[in-house]
Amino acid sequence: MKSGWIDSEAQAAIDRYARDGIAPDLALRVYTTRLLGRDPKLVLHGGGNTSVKTTMSDLLGEEVAVVCVKGSGSDMATVEPADLPAVRLDRLRKLRTRAALSDEEMVRIQRESLLEPTAPNPSVETLLHAFLPHKFVDHTHASAILSIVDQPDGEAICAELYDGRVGIVPYVMPGFLLAKAAAEIYDAKPVVEGLILHKHGIFSFGDSAREAYERMIALVVLAEERLQKKRKAVFVTTHLPQAIAPVAAVAPILRGACSRKDERIEGAWRRMILEFRTGPAILNFANGAQLARYGQAGVVTPDHTIRTKNWPLLTAPPQRDRTDDFKRALRAAVTAFVQRYEAYFARQNARVGGIKRPLDPLPRVALVPGLGLFGLGRSKKDARIAADLAQCALEIITDAEAIGRFESISEDEMFDMEYWSLEQAKLGAATEKPLVGQIAVITGGAGTIGAATGKAFAAAGAEVALLDVDQPAAEEKAKAIGATALAVKCDVTSPVSVTEAFAQVVEGFGGVDIVVSNAGAAWQGRIGEVEEEVLRKSFEVNFYGHQRVAQAAVKVMLAQGTAGCLLFNVSKQAVNPGANFGPYGLPKAATLLLVRQYAVDYGADGIRANAVNADRIRSGLLTDTFIAERAKARGVSAKDYLTGNLLGREVTAEDVAQAFLHQALELKTTGDVTTVDGGNIAAALR
Ligand SMILES: [Zn+2]
Repeated sequence: MKSGWIDSEAQAAIDRYARDGIAPDLALRVYTTRLLGRDPKLVLHGGGNTSVKTTMSDLLGEEVAVVCVKGSGSDMATVEPADLPAVRLDRLRKLRTRAALSDEEMVRIQRESLLEPTAPNPSVETLLHAFLPHKFVDHTHASAILSIVDQPDGEAICAELYDGRVGIVPYVMPGFLLAKAAAEIYDAKPVVEGLILHKHGIFSFGDSAREAYERMIALVVLAEERLQKKRKAVFVTTHLPQAIAPVAAVAPILRGACSRKDERIEGAWRRMILEFRTGPAILNFANGAQLARYGQAGVVTPDHTIRTKNWPLLTAPPQRDRTDDFKRALRAAVTAFVQRYEAYFARQNARVGGIKRPLDPLPRVALVPGLGLFGLGRSKKDARIAADLAQCALEIITDAEAIGRFESISEDEMFDMEYWSLEQAKLGAATEKPLVGQIAVITGGAGTIGAATGKAFAAAGAEVALLDVDQPAAEEKAKAIGATALAVKCDVTSPVSVTEAFAQVVEGFGGVDIVVSNAGAAWQGRIGEVEEEVLRKSFEVNFYGHQRVAQAAVKVMLAQGTAGCLLFNVSKQAVNPGANFGPYGLPKAATLLLVRQYAVDYGADGIRANAVNADRIRSGLLTDTFIAERAKARGVSAKDYLTGNLLGREVTAEDVAQAFLHQALELKTTGDVTTVDGGNIAAALR
């Protein structure tokens, strides 16, 4: 690790923020906080915090001494001055003489001492920053430091390595008591450049932003160098089957095993989204013969607990072509995981007087020997965070084991952290959208109706994959939907292409819950004269395309065992043929029966099949030229053609998207066709 300080960039930060009236102190605080935040070997996902002591005007225009501390949960890599709320220093320092202070009191006093009443909550480690005298204070959970302190003799190794340059603070949970303990250790030896917090992380400090930052780097470099010395080889690999099942086969089984029926709504499931990672370091760790020891020893730093839980789920190695065995073993492993978590909660809750409410007991990280690791979360974003932290943790544990033996905090300490109200507050209030945890696949995803449907499903909380034969176009639409939306190339006329596309979706999210089979193409021709070839082409897309997609989806849904939803775009042509439109209407009519067949054959598995019968939507299929042609065939203007329905309203792609969304949410409707056409009695279904 090297210092990232560059004089010209530091000056540029001062100049840039000066335009917004921000003083150089705070500008440099932002600059070095970002330098720390951009290195995953120092902090990840909202971990760590920094501060600067300065003076500022309060709302009455009076100058007061303040400490600007990073807000709780904000990310150091992208921090802005507003993310470092100013807190009155004299008020915080008065608290040091107290013998005890509850968390609630601490948060209230911190909020009451804010210069700006609407500022975010300052870090839970604010008092530690306030009690230290230095102008700049930096705190990280550096990987190299953790590999050294997460040892039975971690404090002794640090004492030898740092030789008086740092104070060593025994493990105390973050908050008031840690702030007091750290300040006392500092006061006993004020020449130190930093403090090492046993089994937690490191603080460095200095009179300038550069000094505090570069001391952090120097102290971490010493730890990195120590980790290169006297290493033993880790880990001895366990015996693995010759052929391991692919991610696309394993993920739906894992996802299904880690889902639960939603007790509040009949037919609903609470599902997880997955993020898969692999590589030599992950496999070396996950394939180790002693994984059950070092892989279950606990977190590397306490604030990972809320994202990863205290231990990962360990699975059997998945043997290729024996996925039924894997499924059985995995379900037993998840049950054991849940029982262990519930026993841990009951034991610990009794210790603290029965005041806590249990969190969901399901794993957030799974290690699969031979394959890699999965992060699990209610959204793709949460699954990625869990995977990032797990990947970081296994590297820290690997280094810890290479120089000694990894040891985490005790069970009591873990529980206190996991169920600490201030940590839970970082996760935010849990009002979830209706499709959170669900994965929606939309074919013809780059088209007008497909893209509008993707947008509507994402807005309802689903993770969305847009499948289209035009991959770049799908990519563009996916980008517009959001950072986690997937674009996958898929030609529904090719069985191989459909299989590969579904494998990609499963690798990307872990499975499939909702399919909107929407890809289609239109051919015209008078039925008595049309070439058979034209008819066959249309059947390939407008019937077999739907069948292939539905079949691929059902396979994944059955592996998950958590029901599912198949939605089809069948068009009005399925029930009400237009002149010379047979080549399009015939396969659509067959698809309408296909919907009912899926409803019949898979109702017992909870898989619903419904269709939308839309008409006259401006799209890639019904282009302006095509509209002009159809209007001419009926002897009306283009406008009258589009609004020629009972309501006299043009129907849009967004209307169709809302109908699909509605069907996805109707848990007690299957075999249904919803009409979205402004009213057309000739096309009304009996
Ligand atoms: Zn910390």
